[in-house]
Amino acid sequence: MAKAPAHAFASTLKTFKTASGKSGKYWSLKELAKQYPTIGRLPVSIRIVLESVLRNCDGQKVSPKHVEELAHWAPNAERTDEIPFVVTRVVLQDFTGVPLLADLAAMRSVAAKLNKSPKTIEPLVPVDLVVDHSVMVDYYGTPKALDLNMKLEFQRNNERYQFMKWGMQAFDTFRVVPPGFGIVHQVNLEYFARGVYKSPHDKADTPTYYPDSLVGTDSHTTMINGVGVVGWGVGGIEAEAAMLGQPVYMLTPDVVGFELTGKLREGVTATDLVLYVTAILRAEKVVGKFVEFFGPGAASIAVPDRATIGNMAPEYGATMGFFPVDEMTVAYFEGTGRTKEEVERFEAYYKAQGLFGMPAPGDIDYTKIVKLDLGTVSPSLAGPKRPQDRIDLGHLSTKFSELYSKPNDANGFNQPPEKLKQRYPLAIAGQGGDEEAAAPPAGSPRELVEMVANRSTKAAAHTSATAPPAPKGQVTIGNGDVLIAAITSCTNTSNPSVMLAAGLLAKKAVEAGLTVKPHIKTSLAPGSRIVTEYLEKAGLLPYLEKLGFYLAGYGCTTCIGNAGDLTPEINEAITKNDLIGAAVLSGNRNFEARIHPNLKANFLASPPLVVAFAIAGNVMTDLMTEPVGKGKNGKDVYLGDIWPSPKEIDENLRFAMNAKSFRANYDKVKTDPGKFWSSIKGTEGQVYDWPKSTYIAEPPFFEGFKMKPHAADAGFKGARIMALFGDSITTDHISPAGSIKESSPAGIWLKAHGVPKADFNSYGSRRGNHDVMMRGTFANVRIKNLMIPPDANGTQEEGGVTLFQPGNQKMFIYDAAMKYMEEGTPTVVFGGEEYGTGSSRDWAAKGTQLLGIKAVVARSFERIHRANLVGMGVLPLQFRGADSWQTLGLTGDEKIDVVIGGELKPQMDVKLVVHRPDGNHQEVTVRLRIDTPIEVDYYKHGGILPFVLRQLLAA
Ligand code: SF4
Repeated sequence: MAKAPAHAFASTLKTFKTASGKSGKYWSLKELAKQYPTIGRLPVSIRIVLESVLRNCDGQKVSPKHVEELAHWAPNAERTDEIPFVVTRVVLQDFTGVPLLADLAAMRSVAAKLNKSPKTIEPLVPVDLVVDHSVMVDYYGTPKALDLNMKLEFQRNNERYQFMKWGMQAFDTFRVVPPGFGIVHQVNLEYFARGVYKSPHDKADTPTYYPDSLVGTDSHTTMINGVGVVGWGVGGIEAEAAMLGQPVYMLTPDVVGFELTGKLREGVTATDLVLYVTAILRAEKVVGKFVEFFGPGAASIAVPDRATIGNMAPEYGATMGFFPVDEMTVAYFEGTGRTKEEVERFEAYYKAQGLFGMPAPGDIDYTKIVKLDLGTVSPSLAGPKRPQDRIDLGHLSTKFSELYSKPNDANGFNQPPEKLKQRYPLAIAGQGGDEEAAAPPAGSPRELVEMVANRSTKAAAHTSATAPPAPKGQVTIGNGDVLIAAITSCTNTSNPSVMLAAGLLAKKAVEAGLTVKPHIKTSLAPGSRIVTEYLEKAGLLPYLEKLGFYLAGYGCTTCIGNAGDLTPEINEAITKNDLIGAAVLSGNRNFEARIHPNLKANFLASPPLVVAFAIAGNVMTDLMTEPVGKGKNGKDVYLGDIWPSPKEIDENLRFAMNAKSFRANYDKVKTDPGKFWSSIKGTEGQVYDWPKSTYIAEPPFFEGFKMKPHAADAGFKGARIMALFGDSITTDHISPAGSIKESSPAGIWLKAHGVPKADFNSYGSRRGNHDVMMRGTFANVRIKNLMIPPDANGTQEEGGVTLFQPGNQKMFIYDAAMKYMEEGTPTVVFGGEEYGTGSSRDWAAKGTQLLGIKAVVARSFERIHRANLVGMGVLPLQFRGADSWQTLGLTGDEKIDVVIGGELKPQMDVKLVVHRPDGNHQEVTVRLRIDTPIEVDYYKHGGILPFVLRQLLAA
């Protein structure tokens, strides 16, 4: 047997000792610094990535040159080097996790067909999936809300959950946290992250340890940066590669240092701080960069506050918002139930590496330094449409009034100013608007009635100071009314100080006699059960409930847009009167229609402000000068009367940091996963039997799989043009996530398979079924294929249609694709600038491949989508200079040859030959956007999945 080559940096493998005297090995950066002396001044986040590159330097996937390049990271160098980053583990949420599991299951089926052990297909790094994206707030404002919402969730998602249960028993390294436990990033913070790791295959007496690092299939994976873990969100194909041991490839980043000084003032929350940070960093343009916090202010803020700041990295555009490990991190790990051994090892490891402690100003060479004095932060909200639009609490009323009549392109609502303060009667429950006697509104959950009955409605109905008073007993609705008030999102629910502040504010409000109007949709959806436990122990939960904030679910709910519907009466009042209704939520995103299609103004705020605005009832109430509401005996109650002091919050924090509670809670993932989950029957066995389902089906990516790949494709000839697109085609244009039209190919297929329109669900929930997803590719109702001539008025037809050639026959892209594939004709797509922009979505590349499209030719590509196309075996080709399909004069009836001269090489020139129907032809040179040698291998194997499968089966 050939001897494995010696590690190029073998001398850097050293030993460290924990406080209890236990030893571990580690790849020492201090030792490496003897060769590369600037390592000691590199940003901490870069050094953690460097450790991974050093440790995984096998001369194949990772070479000594990679180590050298990263060790030489310079703050302001041109960024051309790619880093192969092998991560420690992978986290998934359920929407993106199901298609990944389907691919793994399909690989097992291939292994079985080839008479190999299915067990050869096993994630090589630990994979954790949290089922958090599926629960909706259908029921609210009742003690039964949680149970009822979960019941509906399980009814809707039964087939997906059965499949996950199979995955749990089939794969050793794949864990599922069932619904009802929490939100992926909070669970990651409180439970998954264990400090430092060792390989499961390392059986040495003195094992080798390394730092935690990860990728996750959710953009807010960056929350884990708060505990010094390097990690971020990626698309499904990248995550799949990472779980099968492939490096995540990235361009060496710039690192912006963010120096925090001073202290937060009394009454200012971590949410206020993150809204400041978001606004500052958006203006700094940190897209694609790491942000690393340092300085005395960073050292002073609690770990949950750091996690809140890390969470919103996608909102400020950075790849990460990283906080180095220090004493606070160690204390957080102790308080949240990690074992003594784990904590000791964690601390000892980071100290041995010279990575422990918050860097002081001047310690590190950053690309750029941004500063913030925490003392300047004030209570804020962000909105009404974008998270980076921070508004001082005291300016909200005027801001909303201004935006009301500003044009849309100035971020406004384009309404006539005279309508701003008009109010309209709201017929609740057909009882003339009498709240006390309200009967169930048609189609609304029965629990709404109980909620109305439960809540004290005897208190004087609050009317905004800006609105004329309504007749007694008459419920009215107007612009700026808060119609959804949601304590939601892992961004904030992971942070005990803001959650306790919400509870304390609720207590004081209830004691002062304040109430929340029952038609406001109030919900409490923490990211872990620990939150409910400490709110209960602190005696605060009953007060939140009195104000309608009953537990609605442990999941993303309103944050992901699962707010559930408003009552038909409210929806009608909004649409009839063109009202600008508001949501106030403790989430991180507020784009129009994300929270609810009828709510145009959505404000992000801390949990206590969410409660305060629910009481005030209208965002035009200036909480800095006007009363929040009227309390006992009609007395005005101001925000200052009910806002909790830092001392009160601190006194209650002891309930939130109880290691025993954390352990007991997360032990239940195994021992007591809940009655609904326990009743799900998953199939058993190492290979999935693919029962008939319109949600889960065996993906066809490995059909006809052979151990030896076909000879490398030397281009193709006679391809037909499937589409000619303009600039900025997004991944949502290519693979929509939203509703499925009845008349679309996917709708027709679902109906033919017995699924009524009401049960279509969304493309997002059907990502485990390729029959739906390939029919949904290019099916966005807004996509414009410029092959279709505009009508007489110059209007371009929208929707996923093409002209089948020859003959110009108009049909759905899916139908044309099937016809072309049947006759063996390859196809290509042409695009403009930024092809594949938007959130990373693996189905945008998977769907393209399944439609038989061999190449996408564009002016430029979004980074992840380009990689995903290569990962699925589709050629990305880029026009050079000013060339475009328009300058070539393409109309769609041409034939295209792609000529690759010689061996496939990254970024080589490729010839495109255009054959026109009149017999003329034209040649143009384009650049092959296969960017790295490993991508050449992926492409030669037909994509990353067959490449990895061959490696695993050959091992
Ligand atoms: S709560 Fe929001 S931010 Fe957190 S995982 Fe869910 S959708 Fe993402």
